[in-house]
Amino acid sequence: MLTSQLGFTPALAVLSVGEDPASRSYVAGIRRACDRVGITCRQIELPYTTSEAELRAEIGELNAERMVCGVLATLPLPPHLPLATLADTLSPDKDIDGITPTNAGRLALGWPTFAPNTPAGGMEIMRRYGISIAGKHAVVVGRSGIVGRPMAMMLLNADATVTICHRNTANLAEIVRTADIVVTAAGRARLITGAMLKPGTTVIDFGINFPEWAGSKMVGDVDYASALPIAGAITPVPGGTGPVTNMMLMRNTLAAARMLLGDA
Ligand code: NDP
Repeated sequence: MLTSQLGFTPALAVLSVGEDPASRSYVAGIRRACDRVGITCRQIELPYTTSEAELRAEIGELNAERMVCGVLATLPLPPHLPLATLADTLSPDKDIDGITPTNAGRLALGWPTFAPNTPAGGMEIMRRYGISIAGKHAVVVGRSGIVGRPMAMMLLNADATVTICHRNTANLAEIVRTADIVVTAAGRARLITGAMLKPGTTVIDFGINFPEWAGSKMVGDVDYASALPIAGAITPVPGGTGPVTNMMLMRNTLAAARMLLGDA
């Protein structure tokens, strides 16, 4: 339907700089999701040595290419490439992961925009499970531009009272204990335990960790075993927020494709 309206199959460009095994499996998942919804997944792999000027040039080409309706960069970029290089160059209309200052600013103002897919997935999970947000105290652990910070903005936009925690937060346990909703995006296994939770709290765990004590298996930031009997609802890791992230990516990409038709 979309293809016939556009006259071409819309493409999502997935840009990676340098080799990263974690990104490989992430991109494979995106490919499968694109196949299911009828979007072409165009993988662009630039060498680790790519300069800022070369990255800008590549993004400039993607901005100009009509068939490409969305551009996603796998993170992290190599240390010599600041995220700002990418975020300042990408067209906000193709920024389907909400990294540009324009889209991040719109989210912070509570305006419609492409919200970053990972936190958008957390919001979608709570919506699907009928977890009310308005008037609740939400504690977000982590303040990165791609997960913690936009999650806090989305919760605020949904009328939660929001506290954002980070490495320098004093008394993390005390703050978390006051939360009706706890969101973790710290990348620290066992940072949050059941003893830190108020009974009945909702826990959204974005953390991805592979600690030795878990036999290098994937675990979240929350100690699931101790949190499960206390929490009212909790996302497991793996199998919780991760799979929903790709669905949000497809939703944003389709919205970007519709914008090409001028009917967003
Ligand atoms: P970053 O490393 O960019 O940010 C981590 C944040 O956590 C920082 O704000 C940091 O604070 C804070 N933090 C770290 N340690 C502590 C601590 N001990 N106490 C309180 N705050 C702490 O990570 P990302 O935001 O990119 O990712 C966060 C996690 O989410 C990672 O595990 C990542 O793998 C995962 N992830 C999951 C996705 C999914 O789809 N489920 C997608 C993307 C990421 P400070 O700012 O002070 O340094």
